[in-house]
Amino acid sequence: MFTALLVEKDDAGYRTGLQQIEEDRLPPGDVRVRVAYSTLNYKDALAITGRGPVVRQFPMVPGIDFSGEVTDSRHPGFRVGDKVVLNGWGLGETHWGGLAGLAQVNGDWLIPLPKAFTEFQAMALGTAGYTAALCVLALERHGVTPERGEVIVSGAAGGVGSVALALLARRGYRVSAITGRPQEGAYLKDLGASEVLERSAFDSPGKPLAKERWAGAVDTVGGRTLANLCAAMRYHGVVTACGMAGGMELPATVAPFILRAVSLVGVESVMCPTQERLQAWERLARDFDPRHFDSMVTQIGLHEAIAAATRLLEGQVRGRLVVNVGASQIPVRSSA
Ligand code: NDP
Repeated sequence: MFTALLVEKDDAGYRTGLQQIEEDRLPPGDVRVRVAYSTLNYKDALAITGRGPVVRQFPMVPGIDFSGEVTDSRHPGFRVGDKVVLNGWGLGETHWGGLAGLAQVNGDWLIPLPKAFTEFQAMALGTAGYTAALCVLALERHGVTPERGEVIVSGAAGGVGSVALALLARRGYRVSAITGRPQEGAYLKDLGASEVLERSAFDSPGKPLAKERWAGAVDTVGGRTLANLCAAMRYHGVVTACGMAGGMELPATVAPFILRAVSLVGVESVMCPTQERLQAWERLARDFDPRHFDSMVTQIGLHEAIAAATRLLEGQVRGRLVVNVGASQIPVRSSA
């Protein structure tokens, strides 16, 4: 038996609760992992609360990522005792995820735990951190260097935003941080923000073209914020779009693209090829200053995940929420 969060949907409605589950109910997979840590990402919060159509089949163990140790493997790449990390690949959506003591997955989805990080630290960064690194790599791939000018990060006090800000600042960019929580100004400055800007300056209807200011942007918010960021890019500016915390729509015009040669680059972490994942984790290992873990991370138990999911969707969580799954397991007594 193992302890898991389980999302169910039937005639009685949509509900999430802690349950003891028998191992033979684990989904098919050639590697079994004892989960040490998982996290609460925005998508997990949608799945747990049912506020977004994340879960594709029921019952479902939520949790789009985990770190842990292999306990059983029929995959040539992994052996018992290996420490591993998994991000995405449909975990918590179509395949039972990380908010459980055990996971059984396709070994092709796993990567070895990066040497630079403990199991806890890998999840302190988690899918949000790995996505932030994908955004930074995409900016670089499209030619944005610190010399090209200032860059900007939206949703800066959230998970993706916090890590993106820290990575960019460490690389020598001058980074502006947009937040709806000015009380987090000191936190954002400590992560490396050169300037903290109010969310309200970005989430109202704006002009098709604004004053040219930024060379690059990491947008986690979508909606009007994304439209306004595109409008305020300098010539050849690059906006990476990975999130929708402020909305799915994009009420923009083509003006920035056809008059300032601005590029809008999508970033996707779930189906991202393994080679790019490894590059993103290498970037995190090289550029994320471990000093930031203390201010950025809150650790909770599995039993606290449901309440925390609501807080996260209300924008009350700073940085990252790590779920200590290993410590949340109820020891199973032998019946002998
Ligand atoms: P968090 O909840 O940790 O952070 C989101 C942040 O967005 C909040 O902290 C807040 O920042 C800001 N925000 C929240 N609501 C609004 C709003 N209504 N208008 C404007 N800003 C708002 O989430 P994550 O960092 O984990 O994820 C951010 C986004 O990125 C989500 O939409 C998520 O689904 C997406 N994502 C996408 C991935 C991909 O593969 N494309 C992978 C990972 C995440 P502040 O308080 O500073 O304003």
